[in-house]
Amino acid sequence: MSRTSTLPVIWFQAAGCTGCSISLMNADYPDIQNLILDEIVPGQALSMLFHATLMGRTGRASLEVLERVPIERRGEYVLVVEGAVPTAGKEYGVVGERTMADRTASLAGSALAVLALGSCASYGGIPAGAPNPTGCKGVAEFLRDVGVDTPVINVPGCPPHPRWFVETAAYVLLGKASRPGMVDEVGRLSAVYPGLIHENCPRRADFDVGRFARSFSEEGCLYELGCKGPYTDASCWEHRWNGGVNWCIQAGHPCVACCEPEFLDRVSPLYRKLDPDDIAGAGRGR
Ligand code: SF4
Ligand code: SF4
Repeated sequence: MSRTSTLPVIWFQAAGCTGCSISLMNADYPDIQNLILDEIVPGQALSMLFHATLMGRTGRASLEVLERVPIERRGEYVLVVEGAVPTAGKEYGVVGERTMADRTASLAGSALAVLALGSCASYGGIPAGAPNPTGCKGVAEFLRDVGVDTPVINVPGCPPHPRWFVETAAYVLLGKASRPGMVDEVGRLSAVYPGLIHENCPRRADFDVGRFARSFSEEGCLYELGCKGPYTDASCWEHRWNGGVNWCIQAGHPCVACCEPEFLDRVSPLYRKLDPDDIAGAGRGR
């Protein structure tokens, strides 16, 4: 009989809203129960050692996991960070009497790999919005600053679609995430963020003939209403959301580039027509 090997996961929540966890709990295939209990690729499963929202343990007994695992299981576990890392001082972001920054550095330093889940963990996102009094940073930037060289894979989105996490985790389990060419220039797996929304949009024919919606209730391309689809790599058009029911553009709302490094400050105001100067020199310099 074949045996299942498990990859331990520490899921650490820093400065965020827990929306990425909520999104994952809405996963449909596999669902959250399958995801944390069953194999997600043949013969391999995740083993959730710590998740503040999902675990039954509380208090000191749960925090001990965060102290023990980096020492006892060095190089054996994956760290998932949800939320940005506050760096402005000890009064910002404390978990169990240690700062989020301190815990992120310690947990990442001993991890096999880090998944920065959500746009806050990937690039700073909303917590890093100007004037950013808490000094929030994305995980990769933070770890570079403190000299931790554990590989980081970004899984951005506000929130990320559950499949983006599942697919990225599957690539890690299969040992494929670290192969050359797998990660794009902003740290995401290219296979998971496969191309521009604009190239696959059901309203693209409207764009091509210049039929633009002037209000949210109208048919037509949403470009004039601020759609950032021409700039955003994501598979929402394919997977859609809430069990495949709908997604932003199908519902008549412009894409707001929620999984791009420039979200939120540099794509705001959200309903202003995309100005290429706003994003020139940022990210991939499209
Ligand atoms: S709605 Fe957005 S993504 Fe779709 S065609 Fe128009 S600009 Fe492109
Ligand atoms: S359509 Fe755009 S804003 Fe909406 S979830 Fe997808 S990437 Fe994010």
